[in-house]
Amino acid sequence: TAYLEKIKKEDPAINGYITVTEELALEQAKAADARIKAGNAAPLTGVPIAHKDIFCTQGVRTSCGSKMLDNFKAPYNSTVVENFNAAGTVTLGKTNLDEFAMGSSTESSYYGPTKNPWDLNKVPGGSSGGSAAVVAAQLAPAATGTDTGGSIRQPASFCGLTGLKPTYGRVSRWGMIAYGSSLDQGGPMTKTAEDAALMMNVMASFDPKDSTCLDKEVPDYTATLNNDIKGLRIGLPKEYFGEGLDPEIAKAIELAVKEFEKQGAIVKEISLPRTAEAIPAYYIIAPAEASTNLSRYDGVRYGYRCEDPKDVDDLFCRTRQEGFGEEVKRRIMVGTYALSAGFYDAYYRKAQQLRRLIKNDYENAFKEVDVIMGPTTPNSPWNIGDKNSDPVSAYLEDIYTVSLNLAGLPGMSVPAGMANGLPVGLQIVGNYFDEAKLLNLAHKYQ
Ligand code: GLN
Repeated sequence: TAYLEKIKKEDPAINGYITVTEELALEQAKAADARIKAGNAAPLTGVPIAHKDIFCTQGVRTSCGSKMLDNFKAPYNSTVVENFNAAGTVTLGKTNLDEFAMGSSTESSYYGPTKNPWDLNKVPGGSSGGSAAVVAAQLAPAATGTDTGGSIRQPASFCGLTGLKPTYGRVSRWGMIAYGSSLDQGGPMTKTAEDAALMMNVMASFDPKDSTCLDKEVPDYTATLNNDIKGLRIGLPKEYFGEGLDPEIAKAIELAVKEFEKQGAIVKEISLPRTAEAIPAYYIIAPAEASTNLSRYDGVRYGYRCEDPKDVDDLFCRTRQEGFGEEVKRRIMVGTYALSAGFYDAYYRKAQQLRRLIKNDYENAFKEVDVIMGPTTPNSPWNIGDKNSDPVSAYLEDIYTVSLNLAGLPGMSVPAGMANGLPVGLQIVGNYFDEAKLLNLAHKYQ
């Protein structure tokens, strides 16, 4: 009740929630009370959380930030939501995001931009900007997010939070609305690494309903938080500290790395030579997958339908013309172009080849070091509206985050002080299924 009241009072200024699920929250809270009384509570029983509005939630509008799904009430729960329900958490609501998770600022949402609680003129990052803002503004203790090219880590960085993008296949994608299916991965957005570990214990599971989900035992992520990090090898990619990085951010990251050195970690410079190719490869592959995933929105099956269509063609065309926003249309155009018969070899195949080389870079790096550290973003949060007329300048802000998704690796953003009066995120990248190691490092730092 305290959270619901606070949301009513304070969320209008932030616009972090698309839907507040008051009735569901009170019902789940009651059930949690009963469960606690009966003595069979799980660690998160009764804890209120918010879900990014990309996770299907039964009986609740699941909009993905789009007019296309404004009227869509999911008939079933995503596995992530189901896992949290089974743990006894209380759903406060569904959080704002860039339309279909396409963006880095939460400005492309049909429901209007979310504001950064640290400075209401600034973007909170994206696409999970609503989740980041509500946790930062204490309108939820924790939230779920998804990360296709940085959408958990970058908003976590912009709002001073801890955000973890797990290894591809660690968290089920079933019922999570698809953007780039080979890149998408759900994860927690929290205040601390310990909270993230508790969330991961619930979120990570093997799910036969997601064919890319891996059948691998889920460790207790809280068990190793306090492990000694002495002798752990940290690699700093020289490409991450060059041109384009705000010197204030560089300073904050260097200070953070020193902290790990103080605790006995060994720091060395490494190279990820394909860093510059990550953006062009990602911005072919992600739109290509998005263009096929979004073909399901045709006005027939669910979601928005244009009024009085003349015929089937008119139904398809006008539904999509009216239902999708500008950025989504741009991605569909880019993706369809890259996949078309005449250009497939020139763009899509090339991008896939780069993807493999980027993965090889990481494989080589992990022969030398245990984890890789660097900034999550090259710049501090920008003013709302500043990048609207120049989408490519926004794409370039994803330089440090997208390569992990191309490789399928886990990565985390951890609060590392301030630059330009706003939070800075330290990114820690691990080898496949090294989430526990990332959480351990983050916890020792916090
Ligand atoms: N900013 C990136 C994009 O627009 C990443 C988004 C995401 O991770 N969902 O595609």
